[in-house]
Amino acid sequence: MTLVINEDKCARCGVCEPECPNEAIMQTEDAYIIDPSLCTECVERYGQPLCEAVCPNNGIDRVKKSLYKKLFG
Ligand code: SF4
Ligand code: SF4
Repeated sequence: MTLVINEDKCARCGVCEPECPNEAIMQTEDAYIIDPSLCTECVERYGQPLCEAVCPNNGIDRVKKSLYKKLFG
């Protein structure tokens, strides 16, 4: 799985960004994004994606890696 911030649900509150232990979440000019090369899904420390747990808007989607590649290259 790969974690993706859903632009339609994300309120750009910024809560998830400082919580990420791998600094994989970053703010661009108009959105928050997750760098898949830095995201480890938090499995090594928390056993679940921390960003998903703290997001108040259910704004994090789990996407299959194969589908992610198709969508985002
Ligand atoms: S916590 Fe959720 S709503 Fe807030 S910036 Fe992150 S993904 Fe968006
Ligand atoms: S799952 Fe964990 S490592 Fe990946 S973006 Fe979310 S908080 Fe960061």
